[in-house]
Amino acid sequence: MLFALYFQLLTFDFSMKLVYSDQYDLNLGNHVFPSIKYRLIKEKVLRDQIAGSQDFVEPLAASEDDIALVHHREYIRKLQAGKLSYLEILRLEIPYSPELVRAVWLCAGGSILAGRLALQDATAVNLGGGFHHAYPDHGEGFCVLNDFAIGIRRLQKDQAIERAMTVDCDVHQGNGTAAIFAGDHTVFTLSIHQENNYPYPKPPSTLDINLRDGVEDAGYLKELEKGLDQALHEFSPDLIYYVAGADPYRDDQLGGLRLSIEGLERRDRLVFEKARAKNIPVAVTLAGGYARRVEDTIQIHTNTIRIAKEFAK
Ligand SMILES: [Zn+2]
Repeated sequence: MLFALYFQLLTFDFSMKLVYSDQYDLNLGNHVFPSIKYRLIKEKVLRDQIAGSQDFVEPLAASEDDIALVHHREYIRKLQAGKLSYLEILRLEIPYSPELVRAVWLCAGGSILAGRLALQDATAVNLGGGFHHAYPDHGEGFCVLNDFAIGIRRLQKDQAIERAMTVDCDVHQGNGTAAIFAGDHTVFTLSIHQENNYPYPKPPSTLDINLRDGVEDAGYLKELEKGLDQALHEFSPDLIYYVAGADPYRDDQLGGLRLSIEGLERRDRLVFEKARAKNIPVAVTLAGGYARRVEDTIQIHTNTIRIAKEFAK
């Protein structure tokens, strides 16, 4: 009995869950998007003893009805049937395959699950997703389905939450998310990004922080803190989806900001601290990361997971 209680207390310390599937790999081969990163992150998290294998949970694929809370039925059918046009595939900038469809369906299920787990444990991480360039009727910029928008809509439908905030720190603006939630007063979208970079145009988020090229740690953190304070002053969400892109890193191939790995850790900590001060749960998705050395991308994402865990209950 005592032993059981002791064991429970011990395991309680490892309460944050990591949502992951081996099938998250988008099957991209030799592409600037290293979709093998999901597996490499899992391996590093285990190797660095940030979490144990018992902390990983497998998501179910999102249902078609869940996906239709955000995406048009016609687009969903085209994805399922492999009927995207040449131009639609070109716009995705990644090759279409049945494995890709399987992966993004699972990632959407993963972000729904991470949202639920965050409500329970204060933080949770989906080791995938953050596909913020996906619009209701099309995908682009490596993003097929907007997994965390689907998470928000499903949790609202379940009445698990009323109001949500997206804090998008990927170097690229969250255009799909901004379009999906435009005019919706139950969702506040914050995006901090490099202004002079994809996407063009940038449909307005609730709060866009447009950074000039080459911004470094101090300038970035000052702007992010100001933005988070403003957003959380104006709006009280029941849940935050944190889009923790690794691509504001100074050695990223698709980004033009100049954050260090330590600066990105401080960024993560700032987001969790601001959320914790208001008792708001945070579900993390990983989003982009295209460092010249894939090990750097893995390190940045793994740091995010380690810091998220410090804030779990
Ligand atoms: Zn990006």
